[in-house]
Amino acid sequence: MGDEMTRRQVRGDLTRTEILALLGAAGPLGRAEIAHRLGLGAATVTEHTRRLLAEGFLRELPPRTSGTGRPRVPLQLVPDAAHVLGVRIAVDHLAGVVVGLDGQIVDEFRLPLRIADAPVPLLVETLLREIDARRHTTPVRGIGVAVPGMTDPESGVVRLSGIMGWRELPLGRELARRLPVPVLVDNDLRASTTAELLFGMGRERDDFLVLGIGDGLGLGVVLGRSVQCGADGSSGEFGHLPVDPAGPRCTCGNRGCLQALAGQSALVEQARRAGVSGLGEGLPGLVGAAERGEPAVLAILAEAGALLGRCVAGVVNVLAVKAVKVIGEGHVLWPFLGPSFEAAAAAGVIEPLRDPEITVAPWRDIEHARGAACLLLARGSSELKRFSSVD
Ligand SMILES: [Zn+2]
Repeated sequence: MGDEMTRRQVRGDLTRTEILALLGAAGPLGRAEIAHRLGLGAATVTEHTRRLLAEGFLRELPPRTSGTGRPRVPLQLVPDAAHVLGVRIAVDHLAGVVVGLDGQIVDEFRLPLRIADAPVPLLVETLLREIDARRHTTPVRGIGVAVPGMTDPESGVVRLSGIMGWRELPLGRELARRLPVPVLVDNDLRASTTAELLFGMGRERDDFLVLGIGDGLGLGVVLGRSVQCGADGSSGEFGHLPVDPAGPRCTCGNRGCLQALAGQSALVEQARRAGVSGLGEGLPGLVGAAERGEPAVLAILAEAGALLGRCVAGVVNVLAVKAVKVIGEGHVLWPFLGPSFEAAAAAGVIEPLRDPEITVAPWRDIEHARGAACLLLARGSSELKRFSSVD
């Protein structure tokens, strides 16, 4: 019963956020047009827009008449009615953005910070400074934090982040205790998947996948306009798909996970073992070798692309989700992974699901920060309004 209530409330908030997102993208629209474009009933739109008007997130423009119909009152978004801050934690820096209600970035920053050893004090100090800097313009109403690791969005506990060396870290609770605005913490790929739902793929589709290629491999899953989290928030660990029981040891302790075969460090290691020189550190070296046409590297990347494509085809077959967006630092490898990925995905998908749509977009890591901010927007206007007296 309690869960059902919460779900209904979240759903209502999401509808309001979708109305805000639509008006942010399309400009002022009448209620009937909003209902039509979002596939909602007239009464539902009236109810939600009434609340958004009362909260100051929308304003009514003068009525317009066309033909013999009733005058139409366009509703306009007030994007600066609330700003939210989103940060993405990385090993050697913090990327941050401030976004308006329309999901547009109004400010961004990048700080060289190694926060792994003292996450709470360093984040609190940084975030308080950013909140304070905006006190006299448009105040920050909430903060989203995107973490590279398995994270429970409900409790804000980082269950496991190998790259940061964290295990069962109650980051959400510790930040909420020390910051004057609501804080939501989630896995970085799921944060970006939320941004896709509100302002990207979700505009056209109710179901899609987001494949994150970075230090790890993750898969964001959206079904029926809901970002899937799993019972304890740990869904989406695509990199730990067991592929080869005799394969190399994975960071999770198992053998032959997808990540241990086709993740970034695995690819660099394979290139090194193949005798490729001048690889340097990580991704840039690998991209450089591929661009030089190093045959061993091209073969390694083609094989990894095919493996990723086969695994994604398996998920497409299971979930019947036909649209996949590829994001993450590793997208720079796409020219070398992509052809074999697409061929393997096409070959592995069963007939009724043929030709899954695969999109690769240019990507910067502030996208994860924007995703973090969108966690707040997805919770809806009530969450932001609840704390609006804080400035
Ligand atoms: Zn693993």
